[in-house]
Amino acid sequence: PVVTRFAPSPTGFLHIGGARTALFNWLYARATGGKMLLRIEDTDRERSTDAAIDAILDGLSWLGITWDGEAIYQFARAERHRAVVEQLLAAGRAYRCYASPEELADMREAARREGRSKLYDGRWRDRDPAEAPAGVRPVIRLKAPLEGETVIEDLVQGRVTWQNKDLDDLVLLRSDGTPTYMLAVVVDDHDMAVTHVIRGDDHLTNAARQTHIYDAMGWQVPRFAHIPLIHGADGAKLSKRHGALGVDAYRAMGYLPAALRNYLVRLGWSHGDQEIFSTEEMVAAFDVSRIGRSAARFDFAKLESLNGHYMRTTADADLLAALEAALPFFPGGPAVAARLDAPLRDRLLAAMPGLKDRAKTLIDLLNGAAFVLAERPIALEDKAKALLTQEARALLATLADEFEAAETWSAEALEPIMRAHAERAGLKLGQVAQPLRVALTGRTTSPGIFDVLVVLGRAESVGRMRDQGA
Ligand code: GLU
Repeated sequence: PVVTRFAPSPTGFLHIGGARTALFNWLYARATGGKMLLRIEDTDRERSTDAAIDAILDGLSWLGITWDGEAIYQFARAERHRAVVEQLLAAGRAYRCYASPEELADMREAARREGRSKLYDGRWRDRDPAEAPAGVRPVIRLKAPLEGETVIEDLVQGRVTWQNKDLDDLVLLRSDGTPTYMLAVVVDDHDMAVTHVIRGDDHLTNAARQTHIYDAMGWQVPRFAHIPLIHGADGAKLSKRHGALGVDAYRAMGYLPAALRNYLVRLGWSHGDQEIFSTEEMVAAFDVSRIGRSAARFDFAKLESLNGHYMRTTADADLLAALEAALPFFPGGPAVAARLDAPLRDRLLAAMPGLKDRAKTLIDLLNGAAFVLAERPIALEDKAKALLTQEARALLATLADEFEAAETWSAEALEPIMRAHAERAGLKLGQVAQPLRVALTGRTTSPGIFDVLVVLGRAESVGRMRDQGA
């Protein structure tokens, strides 16, 4: 059975590229009936933080990406990593290297002069440890093959070949006894029985070096799928401006998790020209072999239009729930959350059909809902205030009385009242609707005026009209 894993380093937020890697691992596991494991690579003690771990776990669960079993913490496994190195030493597949920092610098310099990619010349490979200088704590290096080639049949990149003469005897344990990243990844992937390593193609060369460790231990090498990194819309490496943000930033911008997930799955993977995928469709259609070899471009406009689609097609009650869940992350959101009681919820729900078609994001939705959330006397935008002439105010006052007496509070009942009022005053319907809109919403644009009236209800509508009427 397939076992994939997502192995983030908790040195920052869960960025958008990491989220896509997690999603691909999750989808592949689901698609094959396998498992996805989570490993927190917290061996860099200086840069790993609990806050980053929380941000990663939180970001994954917001996106609906789940993992099987308990998360594994890499640092806690250092003893096991060291034990593997002991085995390699005992088998003659690793050795102690006493080269000083100065020697290493000289070797690097020589390599650069001669244009060699191999930086370490293997000087302690076969040397008698009795020659070790006193008082120097060695690093432990892998005895990597000197000849031949290392080949990876990558599921995305195809066959990739390295000449072993170009690859170093990599360090497994530092002189302070801490395991290196390269060692820890291999030991953990082996112990976790990972069958498929799906990760960014910045790790492609690491895969060749890691293969040497697998071979030295006599372990089976997993299948690799190195996915191209995400680039900006202009083709340059992804920067903050391009969208290289944490998943939490997308939540704060008001994107729906389902929409972001749908957007991410299409970044580098395709299935015909289908753009919209339910979770079930994604799982059914996903295949690593359909991941493209060229860098995907991050496109905010596309994300936004996809999000708009999800906003329009999400059921009103679900959309309200999504808005409520996101409020803590929006400017002014916590204050709104604190006031949300059952009647206000009902009004928001009633307003949803009129609001969601115009909203690309939950932030748009919240802005659009401002008239529902406003408390009397409501604040008026300057542009709106300017429309409330003396005449308009007088109109609002009489219209309020007529509305109050309406038989039922519905568009069907209110429209004729408004029409009759306009005719009597010699005005067009729009000339009545506009001041009314201002009084009810504080703005010059809003959903349809009868929708607004119905959503607010009789008492609130009449009250707001009287607040501005004279
Ligand atoms: N921890 C590594 C990273 O965050 C990933 C290692 C791997 O997937 O093998 O880039």
